[in-house]
Formats: sequence, structure tokens, C-alpha cells
Amino acid sequence: MNLALEQEEAVSADSFPKASAANIERMLRNLNHFNSTPEFGTTRVLFTEPEVAAREYIKREMKQLGLKIREDAAGNIFGTYEGTEPVLAPVWTGSHIDTVLNAGMFDGMSGVVAGLEAVRLFEEAGLRPRRSVVVVVYTSEEPTRFGLGCLGSRALAGKLGAAEAKELKDKDGNSLYDVLKSLGFPVEHFDEVPVRRGDVKAAVELHIDQTGELERADKTLGVVKTICAPSVYDFKVTGRQSHAGGTSMARRRDAFMASAEMALAAERLTKESLGKDDYATATIGRVNVIPGAVNVIPGEADFSLDVRDASFEHKKELTQKILAEFEEIAKKREVTLDSKMYNDDHPMPCQDDIQKKLVEAAEETGISYIKTISGAFHDSMLVGEFAPVGMLFVPSRDGISHSPQEWTDFADIAAGTDVLARALFALADE
Ligand SMILES: [Zn+2]
Repeated sequence: MNLALEQEEAVSADSFPKASAANIERMLRNLNHFNSTPEFGTTRVLFTEPEVAAREYIKREMKQLGLKIREDAAGNIFGTYEGTEPVLAPVWTGSHIDTVLNAGMFDGMSGVVAGLEAVRLFEEAGLRPRRSVVVVVYTSEEPTRFGLGCLGSRALAGKLGAAEAKELKDKDGNSLYDVLKSLGFPVEHFDEVPVRRGDVKAAVELHIDQTGELERADKTLGVVKTICAPSVYDFKVTGRQSHAGGTSMARRRDAFMASAEMALAAERLTKESLGKDDYATATIGRVNVIPGAVNVIPGEADFSLDVRDASFEHKKELTQKILAEFEEIAKKREVTLDSKMYNDDHPMPCQDDIQKKLVEAAEETGISYIKTISGAFHDSMLVGEFAPVGMLFVPSRDGISHSPQEWTDFADIAAGTDVLARALFALADE
């Protein structure tokens, strides 16, 4: 312990020791031992044996740091580094430790480990902010087991209660509620999970960049401006099923060709809609052609459409244009079109003040950054429903994630942690 630092009144930039890439590597490699598919990438599905063991491991690390540990009915884990005025709304940081199938060791885990390392830096420097800083592990950001993502943060946002947890079933028919109960989580207190606005001062999540933008820009950090939100639709195109040889080109009402024209229209309209500062994507990821035989003109085609945008208004305008053009195509090709919208989420802007503190911390430490947009969604999108949020990206090699090839240099996570720790301290000391 450096006594000179302890005696110092104000917290200066030099008060912070540097994050340790070795400690970050140690924790990430330890976590990676909890893995159902060590022969091919990392698989840690919610409440499987490795996932439960990984939770226990994180709690051991929290205990060693002297954090107060609490778990809620939805399985979220909170490790609190107490501030000097613990009645004030705390500052949160964290991410998830579950993965998709055959994933990597960084997506999610980096944010949890960075939070733990940030708190270790406070401890090492003898820094205690006014507000508590809480390291959070959100339950199941990935939809791998229950088909729905962000389970923990969704519950915190008041959008997944006991009733919904009873409805959510995995492929073996087990409900989320029963699984939580069998593992000893306090499901009788599900109604106490949601957080009221004002109860959390700010929440900052460090995550790997999943686009490769940071690497291309040759910058170490991305300060996120907005988290894009999806609108998801299912379409059913009905034409007339008939013989591939016997039906002339002029007499066809081909459901697939109509769908194909719609798909290209969605792509063109999305590209055309983009101004210099816009970010929008349109994806048709699932197509089902019926009956699906080489010599039959398809009578039906079903497809999904996922539109994401950094602006809700822009997304609304774009989806309306896409839908109108789909209708035109259906009319022209004499097919019928049915549509169903599944969700129409609002993009989550990152709070200006949190962005500012992240930028200030990057400038203080001389770590390069860009302002960026998150095309993928994260727990922060739901946490943003009850608290101001911020996100910090660290580079991912070739922008690859959800793959055994996923890689982020430990030194980059350490650089991100240096900035995260400073921003967390600044927020918590207000
Ligand atoms: Zn993630």
C-alpha cells in the first residue's frame, strides 16, 4: 500500500494502478475450464454443470476481493464493493458468463472479469468512492437454453416475472422457474427482482466488439453511443403450387420468386435509407419453401425479417417502406402476403454523461478510442430500461464472436479495464 496515495485528498489520474493483463488472463482461463465442449470452443449453457461451476468460481473471486454477494430469484449475481455512503444509488458494471454452442472465451466473460479487476484496482489503491460499485453477472444473455435472451436483465427490467418464468421451457420441457427453484434460487421472491428507476445511478458494460470496426480503425476502445434494437417479422407468401414443366412463365404465381424479390427490395431500401450517421441492417435469416421439390413451383414461402437500427424513428420509417413495397410486389405477382410482427424494440441510447466519463478516462490514460454503435444487443439494452447505461467495446480479432476463433488480446481488455475503472470511480464518487 502506498501511503502517499492514501493521504492524497483528491483522486487524481495517477491514483489508479494499472490493470493487470495477467490477472485478467488468469480469470478468463479459469472460467474457460468450465466448458461442455473443450474439444471445440467453449459451451456454457445456462444452469448446466459447467455454468453452475462458473458461477461458483466468480463468487469465489468476489469473496476474495471482499465483495458482499447477493443472488436474486432470477439467478443474477451481485458482488458489492461498498462505498463510504452505501445508502446512495450504486453504480453497476458487469455482463454475462453463459455462451452459445461452441463459442469463445471472451463474449460476456470479458465484461465480468473487467469489473472484478476494476474493483481490485480500487482496493489496491485504497480508493473508496461514495457510492457502492456492484459487479453483476446477468443470467443467460444468450438465448441458447430457453430460446429467449437477456433473462436476468429482462427480469431486472420487470419484463420477466414468475408467471413468464413458469411459461419459458427448454427443449426437455423444464421451465426456467422450476430450474431456478431446484438450484435453490429464492423464486418465492421473484416480485422483488425488478429495479425501480433511480435505484441504480449508472450501469457500464465492457464487451468485445462484434463487428471488427475497432480493429479496422486500429483503435483500442469503442465508446458506444447507441445499442441498436431489432424489429422482427414473419411473412407468409401464398401463390399457386403447380407443375414446373407444365406451367409457362407467364402463368406462374410463384411464392418463392415473390419472396426473393421482396428480399432484394428489403436490402435495397435499407441501403438507400442510410445517411452518413445512420446505422441500419435488414436480414432474412430463415426461408422455408413449400413443398420444396425440384419440379414443383412453390405454392408457399415463409421467411423472417430482422431489421435493426440505431434510431427508432428511422427504423419505423424503414420498416414501413419495406412493408409497403412487399405489398406492391405481392400485388404485381398475384400472391397474397400475411405478416406477423414479434417485437419492435426501442434502441437504447447510452447516456451522454457516461460516454463523457469514458472518453475522459480514455484521454487521461492515452488509450485510443472511437465512438461507435452496437449493432448487436446486450444486457445493457434491458438495464437501460431502469438505469442510465454506457458500453465500452474492446477489439475482437476479425470481429469474430460466437465462434471458437473468437479472440481478444488480454492487454486490450486490461486497457479497457483502466478506462472502465476510472469511469466507474468518477460515477460512483458523485
Ligand atoms: Zn455477449
